[in-house]
Amino acid sequence: MLSLEQQTADVKEGMRDLRSNGIFTIEGPIGRKTFRLSTVKNEKSDLYGKRILSHLIGPDNTDDYKGIAFVDSTDQAHPIRIWKRFKFTEIVDWANILLELVNGDGIPNWTIQAATTCVRCNRLLTTPESIRAGIGPICQGMA
Ligand SMILES: [Zn+2]
Repeated sequence: MLSLEQQTADVKEGMRDLRSNGIFTIEGPIGRKTFRLSTVKNEKSDLYGKRILSHLIGPDNTDDYKGIAFVDSTDQAHPIRIWKRFKFTEIVDWANILLELVNGDGIPNWTIQAATTCVRCNRLLTTPESIRAGIGPICQGMA
């Protein structure tokens, strides 16, 4: 069992080039968005083995994700392929920012942070404030 520090380090390392799966939040002047990168493990699915980029659309940061793109980290020209139905939505802009943050030299005033877990209850932390604090709002007595 890896320590949390090691797990976080792995995610951070992988995020730099989209090779590892994980959950991470980007934040900048226009707001924040939490993404999940995962591999389809259901062998009966047509998408088996594909890697899918999703974004958080609800209150449950472990489950409320909606797929938006395929990710192929070996495709240097187009590692993130946004699905057709989202081609003309703002998610394209977010995906471009994400790509620049993981593959480029970063963007001024933008950060990317890997999800961690609360030191008290072990729930997943995805907001930048909670990640920085190491503890969630409920355990901090703020919610
Ligand atoms: Zn907690």
